[in-house]
Amino acid sequence: MVSKENSKENSKQNPKLKMWQRVFCNRSLNMANIKAIGFDMDHTLAPYHRENFETLAFRETLKKFIEAGYPEELSRLKFDPNFLIRGLLVDRDRGNLLKVDGHKYVKLAFHGHQKLSKEERHSLYNQQSFKAGDFLSMDTFFALSEVQLFTEIVEYMDKHPKSIKKSYREVYADLRRFIDLSHADGSIKTEVLANIHLYIQKDKHLRKTLQRLLEGDKSLWLITNSRWEYTNAVMNYILDDSDEDLPNWKSYFDYIVVGSGKPGFFHGNQPFYLVDEASGEHSLASGKLALNTVYHGGNAAILQNSSGFAGDEILYVGDHIYGDIMLSKDTHNWRTALVLEEMDNELQKLEEIKDDLGEFKEMLKNREIMDEDLQILRSKISVNNKQAAKLTVLNETKKAHYLVKENEKLQEKAISQEKDLRTLEMDIKRTIEERQISFHPVWGELMKTGLERSRFADQVADFACIYTSRVTNLRFYSPFKRFTSTNDVMPHEE
Ligand SMILES: [Mg+2]
Repeated sequence: MVSKENSKENSKQNPKLKMWQRVFCNRSLNMANIKAIGFDMDHTLAPYHRENFETLAFRETLKKFIEAGYPEELSRLKFDPNFLIRGLLVDRDRGNLLKVDGHKYVKLAFHGHQKLSKEERHSLYNQQSFKAGDFLSMDTFFALSEVQLFTEIVEYMDKHPKSIKKSYREVYADLRRFIDLSHADGSIKTEVLANIHLYIQKDKHLRKTLQRLLEGDKSLWLITNSRWEYTNAVMNYILDDSDEDLPNWKSYFDYIVVGSGKPGFFHGNQPFYLVDEASGEHSLASGKLALNTVYHGGNAAILQNSSGFAGDEILYVGDHIYGDIMLSKDTHNWRTALVLEEMDNELQKLEEIKDDLGEFKEMLKNREIMDEDLQILRSKISVNNKQAAKLTVLNETKKAHYLVKENEKLQEKAISQEKDLRTLEMDIKRTIEERQISFHPVWGELMKTGLERSRFADQVADFACIYTSRVTNLRFYSPFKRFTSTNDVMPHEE
């Protein structure tokens, strides 16, 4: 048990923590009220060596395309680990990739590797109401290699128009089928398990992180879509050191659910099956779930009932906004923690440019002031013009002449102010572009589109109570930590 003093000490944000070691809070969460913590496995407890894994998935799926009669030439397609980021939308009808802001405005679009012009993007997506449901949301890491392959095939189809007699959408349907096949026939799993160190990252702090939560009297659960054999191999690899209290990875978890079929696990009523650990065979389970026993399938309602914990007493930790976070929150009112491993890189960049941000905000403020000054000047010129015209009609030529002269000076001033404003606007545009490129050369910052929050950022803000770049960052905080949201402010409150 962590002492009260220790907990008090930990209740403040540790100033020594680097940005990428922190846990960020969207919605206040008092860990003292959390009795059970469920974890997803892939990309949550077990981070991947992504480039290796995605390359493997890309190559294995491509093999299936060629076996199904697609041109042999496709085997030359290359996986580019740096082309895509999560949070993009896929327009399967047009073969396009879209980055959308929180107001559903498409800010960036690519067809294959070609960037769409502002006019094309505008006429295709921004002239009518945008329905995100028409598009596929790329929000898991597993989708990155899938969509990358789609992009490469789109590019190939455009260069060789008669080679594949299918629509982009039909090709995508094949792609989905071939990926499922690569998983079902074991071509990906067999390679990962044979060379697990190439594909799964071992975080030496995982054991300590989980131990700390156990010391805080949390009941830990594992709820993964991976099947038993794969789960057992991966968990054995990432939690391989043992002692008397925790002799193996299973001893950390009260409830273990494999093949859970999320998101259906949260809203469905599939039964649980007992897993025979030696053979992997299933048999239908009935009644309440037993502790430290491996189950397959099932649903969250029975799990809650068996554990005696429900709703906001449970925190679920996962990397998939929809399958892990959105549904556990919406269906059962579980509290949620999102693992966003891209934050590692993004936060390091943000730390690097922290000093420039103040300067940039100053530029935005100046632009507003200059723009306002210019509007005042223009309206004064317009009023003077009207007044001068009136005076001329009344034969008050001297007064009219005076106003015309004054307007000439004001006009000069306006031209000069306009020039300064354009220069400042160019500087702002360049600064935004440089910032975006420094984060990602093609798509920019994960959480931003220009100055606006990206759609992905909006989803993180709406559904994740807390978020961090890796599970093991939890070790820096007490299991009774009160995470407090500080950024829930409207523009008028800033
Ligand atoms: Mg996952």
